[in-house]
Amino acid sequence: MKMLVIKFGRSVSVLAILLAVIPLFEHAQAAASYALPTKPGIWLSPDPRRKLSDAHTMELVQSLQRITGFRQLGFTENGLLMNESPCSSAEGAVEARQVLERARQSGHVFIIEDYSGSDEVHFGQLDEGTNYEDTRTGIRLLIWRVRLDFADFHDMEAAQDVRASFDCGFTALHELLHGLGHTDSLQEDSIGEIEEILNRARTELQLPLRDSYFGELVPISTRMISLRLRFLPQPSTQAAQAAQSARALGSAPPLKRKAKYLFFLLPHSYRPMLTVSGLVRIGCGPQR
Ligand SMILES: [Zn+2]
Repeated sequence: MKMLVIKFGRSVSVLAILLAVIPLFEHAQAAASYALPTKPGIWLSPDPRRKLSDAHTMELVQSLQRITGFRQLGFTENGLLMNESPCSSAEGAVEARQVLERARQSGHVFIIEDYSGSDEVHFGQLDEGTNYEDTRTGIRLLIWRVRLDFADFHDMEAAQDVRASFDCGFTALHELLHGLGHTDSLQEDSIGEIEEILNRARTELQLPLRDSYFGELVPISTRMISLRLRFLPQPSTQAAQAAQSARALGSAPPLKRKAKYLFFLLPHSYRPMLTVSGLVRIGCGPQR
């Protein structure tokens, strides 16, 4: 967790100077050109280096509209996410609406940043958080930066329904849940509480469920490796298909669901930061 303290006056403690100067130095380069949001909510980054293009903003808005059913959802001119009443939508997933509303009402600031093409971020990542304090105005905020790599979603190989289960909107919700205190799985055989929540939303939307939190690395050449993520079709869809097949063949339906995979190419030099049994964490939250 970082500290960012804005203050002036003659009496400043050494600790305050240390807390203020280090992050301010980082912030100072861009401070002249943009100001951080000073009200809680979900914001588009005002940083010109991380600002979403109109196309990426539209991609995120359309995805969140589809997942939540909030058809009026969008960003205001100054970058704040707005949507209609939580009770007004009959579409989308209730679970996803609750996640988005919890983040909007949390009192925290979430800043969505564009890390497209970055080697640091694969699909999505939440930073370690910043405790912001402005002693001049008395404003204190916890600021999270939600980093999204839109290029990764275009570069991956997956069936259309798997793409709908794992896109920028679902990834943004994943990172928001980290900011709300939820954690990822540390066990190979567990999906983790965040993906359990998102799988309930996928169930409502009749989308494939994420079957593993961890990705598997598969070498495909001397220069490239493939990372794959496993999904399972909805049981209800599978059961319906099996019942249809059984009727056609006059036999018992198959019980086993066939996994679907998402593939993503990485350079052979890729070194995952965190692994369990050689598996790769996808959608990492803050390193605590
Ligand atoms: Zn995560």
